Amino acid sequence: MLAIAAHRDDVEQTCGGTLLRMKALGLRTGILDLTQGEAGTRGTAAERAAEAAEAARILQVDTREALDISDGRVENTYENRIKIAAVVRLSRPRVVILPYWAGRHPDHYTASTLGYEACFLAGLTKIDTGYPPHRPFKIVYASLYADVRPSFVVDISEHIEVRFAALMAYRSQYASQESGSGLFVPEEEIRERTFAMARHYGLLAGVQYAEPFVQKEVGLVDDLTLIPVQSI
Ligand SMILES: [Zn+2]
Repeated sequence: MLAIAAHRDDVEQTCGGTLLRMKALGLRTGILDLTQGEAGTRGTAAERAAEAAEAARILQVDTREALDISDGRVENTYENRIKIAAVVRLSRPRVVILPYWAGRHPDHYTASTLGYEACFLAGLTKIDTGYPPHRPFKIVYASLYADVRPSFVVDISEHIEVRFAALMAYRSQYASQESGSGLFVPEEEIRERTFAMARHYGLLAGVQYAEPFVQKEVGLVDDLTLIPVQSI
């Protein structure tokens, strides 16, 4: 399973618990950050690289890589699609998690279509990236940033504390400090927000904490008696 996002810490905010859950189920997991964080208000790209490595260790992912796409101007160019396609071919994920395709930050929604088109390209035999073609079977969209009803949620109740610890590994972004204090919320409030969001999505499905996803395809059911989430 490969989670692709624009910025270091996006995955921690939107689907870190799901990566932990999949790891607990015995799957190989990875993160691809498209940018290195050089345009952020707080911290340098080097600081964010160290923090991302620490967060990756906490999330128990098998691989984490950051591309050199410009922070703050993620663009859906052929060159960028090829860079992502090469990683998809090398890691050969069955499932790719992308950011939801609408939102406030242009990097987030651009990463969504850029990632989708890169996955498509990765499957084309005639595109040469040095690795054999591979197209992921499934693409799901992490929708925590978006105010949309999810197609499904993943129960992360057992993983919420570790997921929060991974987010807090980004000390340059989240530790209470002077720089950018009008723009960033204090650390204690981040904990409350993180848990409140996860609780909200958990309640929608009758579990404690969850992360939301949207899929474009319809769901397929074999046995109606095994569909989870109680109706009444
Ligand atoms: Zn972001």
